Amino acid sequence: IGAGDVSAAEAFAAYRERAAGDELNAFTWVAEDGEAPAAGDGPLRGVPLAVKDLFCTEGVPSQAGSRILEGYRPPYTATVVRQLAGAGAPLLGKTNQDEFAMGSSNENSGFGPVRNPWDRERVPGGSSGGSAAAVAAGLAPWALGTDTGGSIRQPAAMCGIVGLKPTYGSVSRYGMIAFASSLDQAGPLTRDVTDAALLYAHMTGDDPCDSTSVAHPEKIALPSAERLDGVRIGVPRGELTGEGLEPGVLAAFEAALDKAQELGARIADVDLPHASHALSAYYVIAPAEASANLARFDGVRYGLRRDEDEGLLAMYTHTRHDGFGDEVKRRILIGTYALSSGYYDAYYGRAQQVRTKIADDFRRAFHGCDLIATPTTPTTAFRLGEKTGDPLAMYLGDYFTVPFSLAGLPGISIPCGLSNELPVGFQLAGPAFSENRILDAAYALE
Ligand code: GLN
Repeated sequence: IGAGDVSAAEAFAAYRERAAGDELNAFTWVAEDGEAPAAGDGPLRGVPLAVKDLFCTEGVPSQAGSRILEGYRPPYTATVVRQLAGAGAPLLGKTNQDEFAMGSSNENSGFGPVRNPWDRERVPGGSSGGSAAAVAAGLAPWALGTDTGGSIRQPAAMCGIVGLKPTYGSVSRYGMIAFASSLDQAGPLTRDVTDAALLYAHMTGDDPCDSTSVAHPEKIALPSAERLDGVRIGVPRGELTGEGLEPGVLAAFEAALDKAQELGARIADVDLPHASHALSAYYVIAPAEASANLARFDGVRYGLRRDEDEGLLAMYTHTRHDGFGDEVKRRILIGTYALSSGYYDAYYGRAQQVRTKIADDFRRAFHGCDLIATPTTPTTAFRLGEKTGDPLAMYLGDYFTVPFSLAGLPGISIPCGLSNELPVGFQLAGPAFSENRILDAAYALE
């Protein structure tokens, strides 16, 4: 869509057509041809929004990438989608994702993998891979995703766009189909930092329907910083020595740090002594919460139902057997085990202690710096199928994003050049509710 006068209806029709012609499997549902869905007359008026499938949208399929929710059309709309529609952004479509947001490549979707627009033989990242691919390919001007351990930042990095994971609690989770409730957070995937700020500014707020939501203490401003004078950026050097970090990713990251320094930032080392235990803690806590959240999918209330004539137990078992994919089953098993009596203290309790230590590390680190920078992911987008046989290798992709998630902290991923012709992401994170600071620095660096 070129510059100039475009009416809201024309903009919607043009994007709708692009989304309907999606060859990346980024969308699982696209708005019907005809009138744009109702939206308010606010500052986002007429800019269509792609929404990750796990946000409940009234009357529209909301399947969270799972066959167990096939055909489920909720009777209500998630708060954040409602807020954005109220501000003027009509629903363009629902985007493909890893099943219940469990994954880093979109290959765990019950509706087939999404392809990366940079190279269609590669993954777009996950779990918000459909949202990232749609924005990167220009099928949507912007999109909503969710991030539990990296699912906004990681696909944004792999698709060469911007993704913001806000402070836990700053966006309502009401109407988001839950994965791990103490970690899940909605956020924008956009083409640039200004769009991320604009979308996020309309997402925040205290929601009576989500008791963990809080009002953001600051009004979210559009970023305007040209320089980074006086900004202290901490780099956890100790975390950048692992074997899994691709040399080209490290080089692009270092180049971005040089640029930050040229713009006036001061770069210093920070020590995060417990960060290397973050993944282990996350892969206990997230599955534990997931195993509880997913207990509701039993064939009674939503979507798929199998063999109801064979009795209740058969119905439960067959519905869950057929409806859930392998990764979801793996997590339910891990989570149930970690929560079972006799093991609870050893696994779940322990993981929560590690989580506290990690949050303490960050509290200490932010005495000496304003922001922390890392590569978003250890590698660029990998080939479809390359890691599907090795869940642990897949989990390692979350190495840099998960520590911030466990501490509830905000972080953004912005593009910082290429490695082997594939985009690299630069992660900038800060203390709770420092989104304005993060957005400003990201804008200056962009
Ligand atoms: N890749 C991580 C996982 O599989 C993170 C997913 C997410 O943030 N939703 O759990």
